[in-house]
Amino acid sequence: MKKQQVKDWTCEDSAELYGIRNWGAGYFDLNESGEISVKVTNSTGATNTVSLMDIASGAVERGLGMPLLLRIENLLDAQVALLNQSFAKAIDQCGYRNVFRGVFPIKVNQQCQVIEEIAKAGKPFNHGLEAGSKAELITALSTLESTDSLIVCNGYKDEEFINLGLQAMRLGVQVFFVVETPSEVATIISCAEREQVRPNIGVRIKLASKVGGYWNATSGDRSIFGLGSNDLIAMVDELRRHDMLDCLKLLHYHLGSQVPNIRDIRTGVLEACRYYADLVEEGAAMGYLDLGGGLAVDYDGSKTNDTHSRNYSLDEYCVDVVEAIMGTLDSEGVEHPVIITESGRATVAYSSVLLFDILDTTRYEPVAIDTNKIGEDDHPMLRNLKEAVDSVNSSNLQESYNDALYYRDEIRSLYLHGQVSLRERANAENLFLHGAQKIRVLLDEAEEVPVDLQSLPVALSDIYYGNFSLFQSLPDIWAIDQLFPLVPIHRHHEAPTRSAIIADITCDCDGKIDRFIGRQEEQRTLPLHELKEGEDYILGSFLIGAYQETLGDLHNLFGDTNVVSVRIHEDGSFDYSREIHGDSIADVLSYVEYRPQDMFERFRKLAEKAVKDGKITAQQRKQILHTYTASMSGYTYFEK
Ligand SMILES: *Cc1c(COP(=O)(O)O)cnc(C)c1O
Repeated sequence: MKKQQVKDWTCEDSAELYGIRNWGAGYFDLNESGEISVKVTNSTGATNTVSLMDIASGAVERGLGMPLLLRIENLLDAQVALLNQSFAKAIDQCGYRNVFRGVFPIKVNQQCQVIEEIAKAGKPFNHGLEAGSKAELITALSTLESTDSLIVCNGYKDEEFINLGLQAMRLGVQVFFVVETPSEVATIISCAEREQVRPNIGVRIKLASKVGGYWNATSGDRSIFGLGSNDLIAMVDELRRHDMLDCLKLLHYHLGSQVPNIRDIRTGVLEACRYYADLVEEGAAMGYLDLGGGLAVDYDGSKTNDTHSRNYSLDEYCVDVVEAIMGTLDSEGVEHPVIITESGRATVAYSSVLLFDILDTTRYEPVAIDTNKIGEDDHPMLRNLKEAVDSVNSSNLQESYNDALYYRDEIRSLYLHGQVSLRERANAENLFLHGAQKIRVLLDEAEEVPVDLQSLPVALSDIYYGNFSLFQSLPDIWAIDQLFPLVPIHRHHEAPTRSAIIADITCDCDGKIDRFIGRQEEQRTLPLHELKEGEDYILGSFLIGAYQETLGDLHNLFGDTNVVSVRIHEDGSFDYSREIHGDSIADVLSYVEYRPQDMFERFRKLAEKAVKDGKITAQQRKQILHTYTASMSGYTYFEK
């Protein structure tokens, strides 16, 4: 970065550099203190902003240190409302003659706090839940308060699953069983006959349309779930034989998650509507069209059909869906169905932020060097290397880099054969770094960067060690190369003068983040600030509310992080509405079947024996057992 830029740096530069207003969806911005703030609209239409630094430091004072998962309840409420209002608006605008009834798919974030908040925020809109397993059905049955909200059951269903749903229908709960595989039809029919309940049956179809994005490799004919047209006809005939066509009410499909292109959304709706119209024609009752999930989140803020983005707004999504349904069904003279969507990601992504502190950094910089000290007495290769480094200038970048690399590698190989000493090798490595950094600085000003040198800035970037586990808190970064906005939550008045990648505190070399959202395209390094002595440096990983929490695992036995939910009030003040202390070491050990009590007992015996053998005093035994017990009940992460 040029000196001038560093001096005149403002929050505006930061906002642009990190794309905060692009991916922030109006919820995140910077305040005058150079901190990231969350912005919510209250009931009078006025906005309140709260600094994430204030939330974080308050949590730390309450004993909920980093890493800390922050849930902002207002954002969950806002997203639920926005989805329902957008559909209501589209329905009104297009003259659609039925309503929208969303359901939230529990698998996207099963945490009790989240599901309860969605149920509460969704109540005025009769927003329901989608359950993909018995456990999720049980959750849905005990969470939803209004019987006008729907419960859509997808996934493999055994008799117990179906019986529970059927009996709940006696209570007035609107449960839909979506047939996912041909064999389920018979089970539903026999359970319904035994329970004497008329079931609401839905059917999931396989669409031929394939969609883009790497979440969706199994869309189309090879999708695991859903019925093809042959199976669908067989199902209709079987229901007809049992006089149950009046129970077939819902058509469902799911294109896959994070569909970035609106064209794929529209194609899916059009194809599904053909099936819908034909099922009506066959004599099925119908009345509900369930488009599944797929509504994407613009993680990189680019508003494009890139995998991490979407080329449509929520309003466009709703209007397109409504128009596509009307376009097909009106021409067939079919009544407009209730529109259901199962948007998970778009509902919860915004509301969670992972905050973590940076513990340390590594820099690839030479130690102060006096190249004049290398002279006649040194190894000729070292002298050659010095010459190559000394001669670096803007017109020979590639050439001098190649030379320096060659001599460094020669010295490494001489070292292997015992022909140069450790000190000489260290000198060579240092000299090489010196040259590489010299070249990197000149590259900043170069008109054109030679291909071989393009990766140099990445190779020389810093490593910032973050107090978190990628595998526990951000598993999709590791598993499917997901990108999340990652930004310091403070110091935006200052220019970030370092370039870094992030390493977590697991000792797994995959525990790193080295792909970041950029202004135009994905970046290999993240601009960050220098650490300041005695001051925490806190980064936030944003838009992580969907899928991350329960997909995480106990790699290196790092457990759940601390969690706080925050509620911002009408007057702009905020409360820590809920808090959960992260796993203790005893907790995670018991998850993998250890018994902390037995472990203590064994350790106590070891200590007792040491006293007997005269290795420690009884006093020291007390001390060491105290340390052991304190560790056992402590946080699994780095504690300050
Ligand atoms: C996972 C899933 C969803 C949620 O998809 P999002 O893209 O997160 O909205 C919806 N429906 C079904 C059947 C799913 O499997």
